[in-house]
Amino acid sequence: MTVLLIAEDDEDIAALLLRMFRKTPFTVSRARDGAEALEVIMEAPPDVLLTDIGMPRMDGWELIRAVRAGDRSAEIPIAVISGQLHPGDPRAGSNGVCALLTKPCPNEQVLNAVERLATLGRHSHTTTVTACQELHLIPQ
Ligand SMILES: [Zn+2]
Repeated sequence: MTVLLIAEDDEDIAALLLRMFRKTPFTVSRARDGAEALEVIMEAPPDVLLTDIGMPRMDGWELIRAVRAGDRSAEIPIAVISGQLHPGDPRAGSNGVCALLTKPCPNEQVLNAVERLATLGRHSHTTTVTACQELHLIPQ
């Protein structure tokens, strides 16, 4: 069982993402903001985290930093989906984001990125070249 956690405050986009993963082998859960996502992650770390950036209470960057700082969560693959970022945004790499998807993003691209991260599995972000960088999921 591969668990995907989606952190997304927008109901329409969350519904779209949940529908997208319905036919995949992923077990998907959804959090309404970064704070709720962090609670879920501390309770039961997912295999992959897919997160929005602009969210109430705790935004995507705060969530990502908290996840990377946690003992049990530091190595979780993280994909970001956001309409606020441009491809190659330097904050993605410096915060330990594994894949950057900019809205609107074709379904296949989202599915492909999450599947590749699930296959890659947990990995460290403290090395100079991280395992996820070799997947080239962050456009330069
Ligand atoms: Zn990574």
